[in-house]
Amino acid sequence: MKVVVIGGGWAGCAAAIQAKKCGADVVLIERTDMLLGLGNVGGIMRNNGRFTAAEELIELGADDLFRIIDKCTRHRNVEFPGHKHAYLYDVTIIEANVRRFLLDMGIKILFETRAVDVDVDNNHINAIYLHNGDKVEGDVYIETTGSTGPMGNCIRYGKGCSMCILRCPAYGPRISISQRAGIEDILGMRDDGVFGAMSGSCKLDKSSLSEDIRNELDSKGVYIIDVPKEDINTEKLKMKVCQQYALKEFAEKIILLDTGHAKLMTSYYPLEKLRKIKGFENARFIDPYAGGKANSIRYLSMAPRDDTMKVIGLDNLFVGGEKSGLFVGHTEAIVTGTLAGYNAVRHVIGLKCIELPSSLAVGDIIKFENESKKKKDGLRKRYTFAGAEYFERMKSLNLYTVDVDEIKRRVRKLLLNDMFKEKLI
Ligand SMILES: Cc1cc2nc3c(=O)[nH]c(=O)nc-3n(C[C@H](O)[C@H](O)[C@H](O)COP(=O)(O)OP(=O)(O)OC[C@H]3O[C@@H](n4cnc5c(N)ncnc54)[C@H](O)[C@@H]3O)c2cc1C
Repeated sequence: MKVVVIGGGWAGCAAAIQAKKCGADVVLIERTDMLLGLGNVGGIMRNNGRFTAAEELIELGADDLFRIIDKCTRHRNVEFPGHKHAYLYDVTIIEANVRRFLLDMGIKILFETRAVDVDVDNNHINAIYLHNGDKVEGDVYIETTGSTGPMGNCIRYGKGCSMCILRCPAYGPRISISQRAGIEDILGMRDDGVFGAMSGSCKLDKSSLSEDIRNELDSKGVYIIDVPKEDINTEKLKMKVCQQYALKEFAEKIILLDTGHAKLMTSYYPLEKLRKIKGFENARFIDPYAGGKANSIRYLSMAPRDDTMKVIGLDNLFVGGEKSGLFVGHTEAIVTGTLAGYNAVRHVIGLKCIELPSSLAVGDIIKFENESKKKKDGLRKRYTFAGAEYFERMKSLNLYTVDVDEIKRRVRKLLLNDMFKEKLI
């Protein structure tokens, strides 16, 4: 059986690994020269409810990516405003480690290859067309192309191309495969009704910062300093993707996290203003390169799905990550991607696709996002274990815990431990 995964971000990698573990042949198509997409500029794991979700998934048997991430982690149990027990992985080494793992598993990866169209018949996808005219055929397809870009969206709904890690000018635009197959995309919004949302953090070159800042980042993982009063801009918070970081502290303070580079927790910051601050006199952006002016625009391309991650209206397309909803985060992408990979294989061999139970955070968020986005204002929200509305829900339902034994007990009680290790073919 052949599973074709389109898009090699965290969701696509998780889907590919899971389908391979189930026994399928897997081809992963990625338009750039690197896996992990936005994961190359993120790094924050296990903050707030993400801890619970990561441990649930590990107990469910989808532990592979977490083991690699933990190996590439620079700091553990970092605290910053509104966030507890964050782990920070090193974005400068994570991709190579994940890539080696996928290749060693025997997953075929087509780099610098862009899916551009589909051959679809009676709601059944027969093949994916590539940018060079080649065709890739499979039994089932998983779309994990994310929701960022293409440049037209960043121009229309943002402040232009900010030259982010996805490098659209070099590798070509993201394409919505589900839309090509005839299923209308769902679009997220901001509070003011404008479509899309702006990515919420930038990367500074650590070596452009003062020695004091570098030392503090290296030893503690975090550095916080006040924004000069005249430069506080709370308006920026409303544009932000990451509602878990849309707290006033993130406008009033410069919050830096050490992810190999210095992760600046704001959407953009004019360079002249940044360089006024002590220790930032030589600061330089490295992602996005135009971080003094703007950031990438996201959440403009979601496919309608059920809670098994199958696209509604198509017989053999599954989705994960930002493509599957208003989910923010690596953990969220790994959760949804894993389930998509698992169910894609079940679907082809005629087994009923499964939903994860709502008594686990990983199951509850999938259902909650699906229900919520149908409600008034649901498309203006974002769903993450790390904060905002969904983390509040986790706490109110007693889903949030950092007690690993308790998490194991919950999964075992459902008889679901190691379910993702099961070979289906
Ligand atoms: C600046 C920034 C910082 C962030 N920081 C964090 C953080 O610290 N912690 C956290 O948990 N989350 C963070 N996030 C959010 C998180 O990175 C994303 O929500 C998550 O990684 C999305 O994963 P994905 O696989 O759904 O999509 P993406 O990462 O967008 O991956 C999609 C992939 O599909 C490829 N693709 C697209 N179209 C095609 C096509 N037609 N053919 C082939 N390939 C295609 C793309 O090249 C890309 O590699 C951050 C996001 C940004 C932008």
